[in-house]
Amino acid sequence: MKNKSCGGLKKILKTKPNILITTHRSPDGDAMGSSLALYQVLLKLGHKVNLVVPNSYASFLKWLPYDEVVIEFEGNEDKAEKLIQEAELLFCLDFNDLKRTDMMFDSLVKSSAKFVMIDHHQDPSSFSHFCYSEPGASSTAQLIFEFIDYMGWIHHVNTDIAKCIYTGIVTDTGSFRFSSVDAKTHHITAKLIDIGLNTSIIHQKLFDNIKESKLKLLGYCINNKMEVIKEFKTSIMSLSSEELDRFNFVNGDTEGFVNYALSIENVIFTAFFVQDKDRVKISFRSQNNFRADLLSKTHFEGGGHVNAAGGIFQGSLNDAVAKFKKILPMYEKEILANAKYC
Ligand code: 5GP
Ligand code: MN
Repeated sequence: MKNKSCGGLKKILKTKPNILITTHRSPDGDAMGSSLALYQVLLKLGHKVNLVVPNSYASFLKWLPYDEVVIEFEGNEDKAEKLIQEAELLFCLDFNDLKRTDMMFDSLVKSSAKFVMIDHHQDPSSFSHFCYSEPGASSTAQLIFEFIDYMGWIHHVNTDIAKCIYTGIVTDTGSFRFSSVDAKTHHITAKLIDIGLNTSIIHQKLFDNIKESKLKLLGYCINNKMEVIKEFKTSIMSLSSEELDRFNFVNGDTEGFVNYALSIENVIFTAFFVQDKDRVKISFRSQNNFRADLLSKTHFEGGGHVNAAGGIFQGSLNDAVAKFKKILPMYEKEILANAKYC
């Protein structure tokens, strides 16, 4: 592998270990696409492999090939715990710190498996034996393609695996528009198309397949819950549990909402607050070089990428928004400096 030798990993694989693949809490398109792509390749190589994710994920991802093998830890704790403890090799995809697995954290720290991390987030912590971290990469799915290639498995990539890799790339790059997209991203995509991937069908499945209640929740959120703070070129949106319930919210329904609040003219930073029982999950998005990940790490126990980060606030929705508004003036200079690109 790139960051550390992969000779050791190849040796371990030769012993046909029990393999488990996992990813972060509330898995997104990149997490699921990467995990299911690697799952299929390992299966084709004749490995015994399981895929356990911390909790449920958006319904618009449920068409992905092999979705039926995914085991959600939450609700299936006994079965998942057994699989985790039986695993000898554990792939951790699309996260840089074990804490991102949330409800699975305690089980994972008990595991005696060798850990392999493949990820593109800033500042990876050192929990893995084999670490393939490239914070500049567009997506973990892009790294999975490179990993498969590097390991000499590329001939196993068929259209089903291509669908999963493409889903990871296209969802994590906002359909190829973020600054993390480079020539490599397009080269890999071209190779997937050469294999036989139909990209337009994937777009339909991902983006023209929205539940009516989700679109109505988006409309409500923008119309009633969006605030623009002009002096800081910042926007805010928030949703309480009561509001989510009103629109029959299920996990994944608010994915993508935060991007609308960033698309407003003269806005270069946005925060989206969603109540989750007695805490608040926050999504941050920024433009240019404004470090959303650092703000989140400093004030909201979070992190992520320069322009896309997430965090947590332990407390009420109102208190989370109030804290954000209180710290915002500290970042005025930095935010306005990054507005010059607009
Ligand atoms: P999202 O806003 O889509 O949940 O997350 C944006 C980015 O920040 C993703 O790359 C995600 O992995 C990362 N992220 C989200 N939540 C957290 C968090 O609580 N802690 C850390 N360190 N990163 C997060
Ligand atoms: Mn990702």
